[in-house]
Amino acid sequence: MASEFDLIARYFTRAAPDGLLGVGDDCALFPVPAGEQVATSTDLLLEGRHFFPDVDPKALGHKALAVNLSDLAAMGARPIGCVLGLALPRLDEPWLAAFAEGFHALAAAHGCPLIGGDTTRSAHDLAISVTVFGAVPAGQALRRDGAQAGDDVWVSGDLGAADVAYRLLDGQYPANAPLLAATRAALEWPQPQVALGLALRGIANAAIDLSDGLLQDLGHILAASRAGARLQFADLPAAPALAGLDAAPLRRALLGGGDVYQLCFTAPAARRDAVVSAAAAAGARVTRVGEILPQAGLSVLDAQGRPLADLPAGFDHFPAA
Ligand code: ADP
Ligand code: MG
Repeated sequence: MASEFDLIARYFTRAAPDGLLGVGDDCALFPVPAGEQVATSTDLLLEGRHFFPDVDPKALGHKALAVNLSDLAAMGARPIGCVLGLALPRLDEPWLAAFAEGFHALAAAHGCPLIGGDTTRSAHDLAISVTVFGAVPAGQALRRDGAQAGDDVWVSGDLGAADVAYRLLDGQYPANAPLLAATRAALEWPQPQVALGLALRGIANAAIDLSDGLLQDLGHILAASRAGARLQFADLPAAPALAGLDAAPLRRALLGGGDVYQLCFTAPAARRDAVVSAAAAAGARVTRVGEILPQAGLSVLDAQGRPLADLPAGFDHFPAA
């Protein structure tokens, strides 16, 4: 029977890069380059709430880190390392091996080694908590409160596939194997836009990653920046798999769908060329979808320029009654 320490050694201990103290001591240590700030963020993922109990463990390991790297991306921070808290209801080594494989592969791809954590037995469900650390030159982080009237609103990648996959798996939409096959990777294997976040430093005025739906997440930028925005629905980059969808589910997916992990950012209209070059250098696709207005409020216009009514709400763990 493997002990807690055997498990940590087998699945969560990897050689730390030079200059870092990784798994094995009471704390991990990493240097902070002069003139830089540490960016840190944590996300808690619970079985049944953030993932289906039968999800592929390799995908889950990937996603647990991806959602955190996405927060670093949204700040324009370069990953340094991460720590992992695990509450495990049972000892299932094949499951742990696959989880660790997905986790470490993404960590290696982004230079974000696992440098510590905690492992305990859970009386009930599986819980996963990941904390990331990154670095950003002092004062250069992409914050939510910098949007200016006249800025363009941009989104990276495409929207809506994760929402459709989630609703198919959850039984909210009738079974549709081809549609699930075309959308599932977006839900289970999100790709954090770290390179794009770095490339947008000095260009974007504000940024956020899309975890709870475009309207809700852009709403956070607007609230922090004391501004409003107008979006053009026809300009939203719908995932190609959504081509056959009816108007209502399409609108729900594009405007309210969560789990996107692309960036929404604003930048001065005068810097459009810089945005496009930065995105190209980062290997990302970006689409201009609207503009920031001086007065509060968020509207979405149809192709005729009329505001859409009944906009979908994004995800909220504690919705008001
Ligand atoms: P402590 O009792 O000091 O909290 P632990 O016995 O919990 O230490 O952990 C031993 C070492 O293993 C520590 O360096 C800790 O950071 C690391 N560790 C424990 N669980 C994990 C995990 N799930 N992933 C990565 N490192 C872990
Ligand atoms: Mg501990």
